[in-house]
Amino acid sequence: MKSPLLDRSHPDWPDPEWFLPLCLDQLRQGLLHWYALHGRTLPWRQTRDPYAIWVSEIMLQQTQVKTVIPYYDRWLAQLPTIADLAKADQQTVLKLWQGLGYYARARNLHRAAQQVVQHHGGSFPTELNQVLQLSGIGRTTAGGILSAAFNQPIPILDGNVKRVLSRLIALELPPNKAINQLWQISEHLLDRQHPRDFNQALMDLGATLCTPKQPACLICPWNQHCRAYQNNMQNELPVSETRAPIPRKQIGVAVIWNDCGQILIDRRRQEGLLGGLWEFPGGKLEPGETVEACIQREIREELGIEIEVGEHLIMIEHTYTHFHVTLNVHHCHHCSGEPQPIECDEVRWVNPDELNQFPFPKANVTIIEALQQQAK
Ligand code: SF4
Repeated sequence: MKSPLLDRSHPDWPDPEWFLPLCLDQLRQGLLHWYALHGRTLPWRQTRDPYAIWVSEIMLQQTQVKTVIPYYDRWLAQLPTIADLAKADQQTVLKLWQGLGYYARARNLHRAAQQVVQHHGGSFPTELNQVLQLSGIGRTTAGGILSAAFNQPIPILDGNVKRVLSRLIALELPPNKAINQLWQISEHLLDRQHPRDFNQALMDLGATLCTPKQPACLICPWNQHCRAYQNNMQNELPVSETRAPIPRKQIGVAVIWNDCGQILIDRRRQEGLLGGLWEFPGGKLEPGETVEACIQREIREELGIEIEVGEHLIMIEHTYTHFHVTLNVHHCHHCSGEPQPIECDEVRWVNPDELNQFPFPKANVTIIEALQQQAK
C-alpha cells in the first residue's frame, strides 16, 4: 500500500502547487473565517505600532502567551518607544526581562533598538532586507512584524506553523530537515489580500487547535484538506528529530558572606549563556570531586580568594535547552584575599536586601528566595 506521507520522490517536489492543489482558496477562506470567530484577543493585536509588535514577537519566541503578557505590559510601560529602549542601560533591560529566559533575546532587542536609532532615525524600517539586518531578527520574526504592523504579504514559519504545515502535507521528514520547502508552502498559502490576519490565524491554529499533542482536528477549519487528519496520522506527525540525551552538569555554588553580613555576587561575561546577568559564583564539579572541594577551587580560580565552605543551603534542578544542571548551593565564609573579576565582568559585595535590584537568572532567584526564607 502506498504511504500516505508526502512522497519526496514525486517529480514535482518541492513545487508547492503539487501538494497544495486547487484547494488554496478554501484553505485561506476557511482559516480566515475561523479566525474571525475564534482568534485570540491579545494585547499586541490591538496596536499597529511596529515596536510593540516587535517586542511581543521577541518575547513570544520560546515563551508562552500567558507568561509574556505581564512582561509585555511592564516593558512598554517602562520603555514605550524605540528611543527609550535604545538609551536604557543594559541592566535595566535585563531586569525587565528577568524570568523570561534566553537572555540573548533581550540583549539583541536592546542592540537592535540602537541600530534603528542610528540607521533609521528611530523609525522601525519597512523593507524586509533592512529588518533582517537588525540584531536578533530572523526571517519569521521579520515576517511577523511586517505583516502585523504594515499588512505586508510576508510569510512566517515559527514552531507552531512548522507543525501545522507538516501535518497539512503529511511531511515525511522532521520539519527542520525540510525548512526550504516549508517556507515555500507558507509563502504559497499566504493570503495576499489579508496577510496580517492570515499569519495571525495560522499562529492561532497552531497554538489552539493543531497543538503538539491531541490536535483538535474535528473542529479544525482545515480538516477536509489535511493529509495527516485524512490518514489519521495527526498524532504521529510531525516526524520527530532523534536527539542525543541531554547531559546533566553538577554545579557547586557559593553564597559567600563577609564579616559585614554582605554577600558576594558576580556579573557574567557578555558573551555566551546568560551574559550580563548577575549570579552567585561557582562552577562545574570535576570527576571525583566533592561539592565542597569544587566550590573552593572554583572560587579561587574565578575570584582569587580563599573561603571556608559551610552548611548546605539548597539544591536546585534546572533545564536549559541543551543540558540540565543541578546547583548544589552552600553558605561560605570569606577568609582572605580581595575578590577579582578573573572570569567575569564585575564582582560586588551587596547587602541581602539589595539582591532583588539585580537581574539574576531564574535558578539564582530561587537561591535568593531560599536566603529570604532562612532569614525569616
Ligand atoms: S486537521 Fe488536525 S492535524 Fe490537520 S491542521 Fe487541523 S488540527 Fe492540525
